[in-house]
Amino acid sequence: MAGAIATTSEIKDITRMERIGAHSHIRGLGLDESLEPRQVSQGMVGQAKARKAAGIILQMIKEGKIAGRAILMAGPPGTGKTAIATGMAQSLGKDIPFTMLAASEIFSLEMSKTEALTQAFRRSIGVRIKEEAEIIEGEVVEIQIDRSVTGGTKQGKLTLKTTDMETIYDLGHKMIDALNKEKVLAGDVITIDKASGKISKLGRSFTRARDYDAMGADTKFVQCPEGELQRRREVVHTVSLHEIDVINSRTQGFLALFSGDTGEIKPEVRDQINTKVTEWREEGKAEIVPGVLFIDEVHMLDIECFSFLNRALEDERAPVVIMASNRGITRIRGTKYESPHGIPLDLLDRLLIISTIPYGQEDIRQILTIRCEEEDVDMSREACDVLTRIGEETSLRYAIHLITAGHLVAKKRRATQVDVSDIKRVYQLFLDEKRSVEFIRQYQKQYMFNEIKKDDDEKK
Ligand code: ATP
Repeated sequence: MAGAIATTSEIKDITRMERIGAHSHIRGLGLDESLEPRQVSQGMVGQAKARKAAGIILQMIKEGKIAGRAILMAGPPGTGKTAIATGMAQSLGKDIPFTMLAASEIFSLEMSKTEALTQAFRRSIGVRIKEEAEIIEGEVVEIQIDRSVTGGTKQGKLTLKTTDMETIYDLGHKMIDALNKEKVLAGDVITIDKASGKISKLGRSFTRARDYDAMGADTKFVQCPEGELQRRREVVHTVSLHEIDVINSRTQGFLALFSGDTGEIKPEVRDQINTKVTEWREEGKAEIVPGVLFIDEVHMLDIECFSFLNRALEDERAPVVIMASNRGITRIRGTKYESPHGIPLDLLDRLLIISTIPYGQEDIRQILTIRCEEEDVDMSREACDVLTRIGEETSLRYAIHLITAGHLVAKKRRATQVDVSDIKRVYQLFLDEKRSVEFIRQYQKQYMFNEIKKDDDEKK
């Protein structure tokens, strides 16, 4: 299995193609060291309370303090819920898994809803596996030897630049001699020149190994019998539980990781993996790293999924689940009952809720300016003012969409800068939601399959 795991780390290294996505300007949460949000930082603007709350959650995740918790980000459309989740993902660090899932995706996969959710959960749990590595030519290797000298344990740490075990043994013996001759003290970090056998000290010396430990040194001493050397160099890979599942699933094989088409995984495979990982943990070979699963538009899940979530969150191998919804009181899918955000009350009761609020004029202007930079669009101040007003009156998202469209129109008239006229033009060409609804209302009868009943129409 260890060999197979090394292979997945290679898979993880495959570089992904980046394009200018909706959130490509977000580089983090933009908080200072005391988790206070800076007004504009790392592509993030305003929404201070929500960003601060997200920062606290992030801190707890990084410190490994929470797992199996669920957070809900609730707020009107375009108020930065996904942006904040993206910011969290950026700040998590490479080996803490972050999975993003739109709730509607689980209905379109060729597998059961609960299988899709289980896979998403297991994708969000990392297993940090420590392996002892082979010595590679030219690498610095640390070897520690122990030797009891008149009652006290003496320890030496030898840094070698060789891969030849004969030489390593030879130098190790020289070190033991040095320890015997009291040239070095326990805990000293020394180097021995390969050719001359000359010893030089690199580190501070400590009289007892205990003192060395008190320094909080992260190097563990290896107890060896006299004269015997052990090589120990740890290599750490982090893979997700799901990746281990796929690699060990006979029907799929690890190539499925490339296509993403992993199909359903048998429960027996998962049980085996769980047992194996528990064993590794007990042997100190592996650590569980709970990551984050972000479920966008969570109101699209149905009652079966919600009860699955309720149970899955109690598992000891559960990630932190962050959900987002822009719905108010709405029907819980699969039932005739309504509840806030379409989430059943028992699940709602477990959630920490972060709310996001609509942006004011200045925030909108800032976000639009950042997006112009991101999309490499030069926009005049006046055009930006007009676009900000459009953002206030329609929606932030609509205004963001007009940036590229405006740029294309400007290019067509061979201008390098987007001007007010370009914005006006695209504003007329593309309708925002309000104007589109108005248009439909006017020309309703000419559309096919007009299903709005008269009563409904009148109510509105
Ligand atoms: P919905 O409920 O419709 O899914 P949302 O709350 O998830 O909306 P986002 O998609 O995060 O909204 O925001 C819309 C756009 O505005 C995105 O391009 C996003 O990156 C940007 N944006 C939102 N808030 C901020 C912010 N505080 N700073 C910078 N960019 C932001």
